[in-house]
Amino acid sequence: MLPHRVSHAIPAAAGPVVFLTGAGISAESGIPTFRGPEGFWRVGSRNYQPTEMATAVAFARMPAEVWRWYLFRRGVCRSAVPNAAHRALVRFEERAGDRFLLVTQNVDGLHLRAGNSAARTYQIHGNADLCRCMRGCRPTVRELPAMLPETWEKERPLNDAELAALRCECGEWLRPHVLWFDESYDEPLYRYVSARRAAEMAAVLIVVGTSGATSLPAQMCETVAARGGPLIVVDPEPTVFSALAETSARGVYLRGTATEIVPELTEALGALALGRGD
Ligand code: NAD
Repeated sequence: MLPHRVSHAIPAAAGPVVFLTGAGISAESGIPTFRGPEGFWRVGSRNYQPTEMATAVAFARMPAEVWRWYLFRRGVCRSAVPNAAHRALVRFEERAGDRFLLVTQNVDGLHLRAGNSAARTYQIHGNADLCRCMRGCRPTVRELPAMLPETWEKERPLNDAELAALRCECGEWLRPHVLWFDESYDEPLYRYVSARRAAEMAAVLIVVGTSGATSLPAQMCETVAARGGPLIVVDPEPTVFSALAETSARGVYLRGTATEIVPELTEALGALALGRGD
């Protein structure tokens, strides 16, 4: 059934098979998306949305609270394990080699922990396991200080030693290596140019579990749709991307969860896209 539905979208032409993943692919690993009810964060008597917490403005005003939020979220990510959809992308990369590219908005690191290669995985919003100096000291990107526990109780404030560990040698704050909502993409830190180029060259773009609220994924989908390229969207709920797929000549919307669809889809893509001319 699935091979039949995607077969008309798959080109004979060579080019990378590009996957674009969002929070939805990790939802079945137990990591909440930003759309769900668990999204807000309480500071004192006020509830903040992720779009308020994940900003340079919030960090400038309340760095310890923003760190507490990230350390809690990082703990949720560290406790999660890759699911069947992550594993299917690893099998696909093993089969496709250099024809595989993965662009992920997720900061949970689950694609890399599942076994996808760092070289072919563009973490366009960063990684919650990493940090960097606010002033830009080198090394630019580094692991979080080892003394910080991997999991974090929601209400626990950081103590003085933990706050001191989150300072660069220069005295400035270390910050999470995550693209904040009031910041811009770039190539050195977030692979902006590489991700755009991937969309321009893609033999097919497969979008899994992203609502369409962020700009680079939107640009990638529009690039593929504008040139009549194949666009496959997997999501249990309709999104701007599923609407784009349904109105584009070689678009397909597969309604369902990542673990329901992605393993079968990658098998079908392997046979259809990689079977030819490889
Ligand atoms: P989003 O929360 O805006 O949207 C998630 C999408 O996933 C929705 O369209 C939803 O219908 C879909 N979804 C829910 N359950 C699913 C499932 N089981 N299978 C497939 N799809 C499912 O998330 P977004 O579009 O990725 O972007 C928002 C921002 O949130 C990004 O900047 C991202 O970095 C950040 N974020 C990351 C994580 C993570 O790293 N796991 C978690 C939450 C948010």
